[in-house]
Order: sequence, then C-alpha cells, then structure tokens
Amino acid sequence: MSSLLGYLNPISRLGNRRYSRALPFLVAIGACVLLELAFTVLLHNPEAVGIFAIFVFVSLIIYFSFRDGVAGGAIVTGITISYYFYIIYSRHYVGEQLSSGVQTTLILALLYLFLSGVIGGLKQKIDFLIEREADGRQRLQAIVQQLPVGVIVTDKDGVIQMANKRADLLLGTPVEIGFKMGSKALAEGEYEGRPMNGSESVVARALAANKTVGDVEYIVNRPDGKKVHLLANASVIQNYEGKTIAAAAIFSDVTAHREMEQRKDDFVNMASHELKTPITSMKLYVEILLEQARQLKDEKVSKVAVSIAYQTDRLQKLVSDLLDVSRLQTGKMSFSKEIFRLDTLMVTTINELKHLADDKKIVYTGKLPLTVYADKLRIYQVITNLITNAIKYSPDTQLINISARRSGQYALVSVQDFGIGIEPSQKTKIFERLYQVNDDRGKTFPGFGMGLYISKAIIQRHRGRIWVESEVGKGSTFCFTLPLRSKA
Ligand code: ADP
Repeated sequence: MSSLLGYLNPISRLGNRRYSRALPFLVAIGACVLLELAFTVLLHNPEAVGIFAIFVFVSLIIYFSFRDGVAGGAIVTGITISYYFYIIYSRHYVGEQLSSGVQTTLILALLYLFLSGVIGGLKQKIDFLIEREADGRQRLQAIVQQLPVGVIVTDKDGVIQMANKRADLLLGTPVEIGFKMGSKALAEGEYEGRPMNGSESVVARALAANKTVGDVEYIVNRPDGKKVHLLANASVIQNYEGKTIAAAAIFSDVTAHREMEQRKDDFVNMASHELKTPITSMKLYVEILLEQARQLKDEKVSKVAVSIAYQTDRLQKLVSDLLDVSRLQTGKMSFSKEIFRLDTLMVTTINELKHLADDKKIVYTGKLPLTVYADKLRIYQVITNLITNAIKYSPDTQLINISARRSGQYALVSVQDFGIGIEPSQKTKIFERLYQVNDDRGKTFPGFGMGLYISKAIIQRHRGRIWVESEVGKGSTFCFTLPLRSKA
C-alpha cells in the first residue's frame, strides 16, 4: 500500500527521473471515458460535461506535469484536447456554437501546454538538482573513504557521524559511529607522556575552543599490540552565519618518521658523547703546545696553536650544545640550583665576553642586587648565548645594551642590539630546535640553531619566560625573567 502511495505521490518522487508515459496516457483516457459515460449514459445530459471536464483535466495536467515532467503534462493535454474536439463533433455543434467551441478549445490547448511546460520544466529542474547534489555527496564520500589519512566527522556536540576506512585502520579498530568525542578516549594510548583521556582529543579541544587545533601527537596502543604515533588536526565547521555545525579531524601515521628521528637523535647523542673525550684531550694538548711555543718564542707555531685552540673551543661548544639538545629531548637535563647574585653574574659574563668583540660597545645598566635560586652555570649559558648572538647578528653596529632589573617578583634581563633584526613571523620559531632564519641575509651567519632552544628550555625549567622584541633592520631585544629569591 505504502509503495503504491509512494508511486502515486508526486512529492515522494522528487529526485526520481524515471518518468512514466503510460500512466498519464491511461489515466487521461480513463477520465475521458468515465466523464463521457457519466454525462451521457447516467445523467443523460451530455452538454453539461464541458465545465466539469475543464476542472478534471486541469487537475490531471498539473498532477502529471508535477509527477512525470513536461511529457506527462503534454500527453494529458493531447488527450484532453482530442476529447474536447470529440465533444464538439459528437454534440453536433454548428454555426456560432461550433466556431466558439473550436476557438475555446484552441485557447485551452495553448494554456494547458503552457501549464505543462512550466510545472513539468520546474519538476525536471528540481529532479536534476537533487540528483546532482546526491552525486556530489556520493563522490565526496568516496573521496573521503579513500583518502590516505584518517578522517572523523562529528556533529556540533562531538558525536561521530562518519569515519573513513583509514581511520579504522590507523586506530586498529572500527570507529564507533555515535561515539561522543570527549566523553572518554577513543583509543587507548598516551598524550604528552600521560595516559590519554577524552578531553584531550583534538575534536573535543577544537569544539571547546571553537577553532582549529593543529599538530597534536598521540601514541596509540592498538589492539594488535602495535604502538603508532598519530599526528592529528581538527577544525570546527561553521555555517554561513558563523555557527558551529560540525567538526572534522584528520590524522596520519607518523611512526616511521618518529622512529627515524629517534635513530637520528640516538646517533647524535652517541656521536657527541664519543667526541667529548677526544676534544677535551685536544684542548689539553693545544694548551701545552701553546705554552711551549710561547716559551720558545716561536710565533708561527704560537699563531697556529691559537687558531687550533679557537676552533677546538667552537667544536667543544657545538658538542656540548648537541648533548644539551639530546638531554632536553630525553628529559635528562638536570639542574643544580644555588642562591647567587644574578647582577654579579651578569657583570662577570659581560667582562669575559668583551674580549670577543673589541669593536663593540657593551653598556650594562643594573646596580640593584638581584638574588635568584637557579643553576648558575646554566644561567651563565643563557646570558652568553644572548650576548654572543647580539654580537654575531649586529655586524655593522657597535652598541649593545644589557640590563638587569627587578620586575615585580622577577629579575628581568634584556640584551639589546641594533643589528639585522627578526621578522615578526620568525619570533617564536627561532626558539624551536635547530631553527635558523633561512633567508639570504641569515645564511651569512654561522650557527646551528640550538642556542635559543636550549636557553628557552633552561629559563622555562626555572619558571621564567624568554622572548624577543625586534624590528627587521633595526635590531632585537632578547629578554628573560627569573623568579627572585623572596628574601632578596
Ligand atoms: P644560532 O645562532 O646558532 O643559529 P640560535 O638558536 O642562537 O642559533 O638562534 C636561532 C636563530 O635566531 C639564528 O639563526 C638567527 O637567525 C636568529 N637570531 C638569534 N639572535 C638574533 C639576534 N640577536 N638578531 C637577529 N637574529 C637573531
């Protein structure tokens, strides 16, 4: 019954482009026969059929145009007009009655054809649009299913609506449609070294913050026993009014990449450790050589020994930076803290570094005692890094301003140069591991991009902050804070 209703109901057939020709033909013929029989045999009033027929056939034309398109309406129109001529013929119209009957029939024919064209045309256009939309959706689904990354789409409440095959594959288990992201972890694993919990899922975070959350890494323990590193990104999807209507996450397997990185880190770590001992011996021998050359007043050997000593120092610094980076990667950097005067350390460090840059004018301001509880050697390392950078990246200017002062509960150190400066887009990146500004100007400066990364880690581990204010071509001011020792 319901399938018959569906077959007859033109609205439920929207989007269905299989138009019937037989049904409008049969129904129109049937209507003619029924009307003719009703008015001639039953009612014995064949003249009265005209007005009644107009209502019946207009309704049929509208119905079949809407159900079967232009052709459906045209078929009913053709049969209707034939029937009208049959009425004129069978009722023996003559004279005025005949000509007005023919005229009316022709006008009605035009009107009916117009109606069929408009309604049928509209119906066909709607069907076409619906079909195209469905096609587009199907194509999109096929593309999403075959993407080489995992895709999960949720509604605005984080309930999963769709996931592709790759998502199942990456998680090692089929993604449950209807699962609410954020309620608990979608898979077992770790996030930032802790067991994963629901609120840390990228989708939950993107929906909570109503913005894109990018490059979040999880380690998933798959049911097959494998551990995979997944890199995930999620963004909220908004309608044209800017209201969030859904969220989508994509994630990919970066396990091979991480393993490779790990091997590289292990290698660097091992190589640095292996290099440490010979470099220490080299330094020792060079110092002996230098001493002997001085005693023998051999200037040539002395010059060579000084240059070897300088290069050995650079090598030693590189190796010790590499080891620091590796310690930071593995969380093995330890601090041995003590109470000391930061202002005094500043003065000593500046005096030590002054000889490196005879052409620079280093001005230090800061007379207040600033007592901190920190790892003195590590803080010395940070100050040295900032000052040597200031010297290195200001080849054409002399002045370097350094200050150490109080700022609330913190000691605030700043190192200002008037050198090449840093682009706004690079200001946070320069604190990343192995990052160097990579433009033609930057390339002329030797370095490895480890100093600021290590400095940032040291300062952060002391509950301080490090940042830079800079303008390209005008110079940079690097600042860091350290909590003051309360009794200071
Ligand atoms: P390195 O100096 O060995 O390259 P750093 O980590 O100390 O490594 O610095 C990272 C990058 O930041 C540098 O390559 C340089 O491009 C930029 N930089 C650091 N200090 C300054 C400065 N004072 N002025 C301009 N650019 C700087």
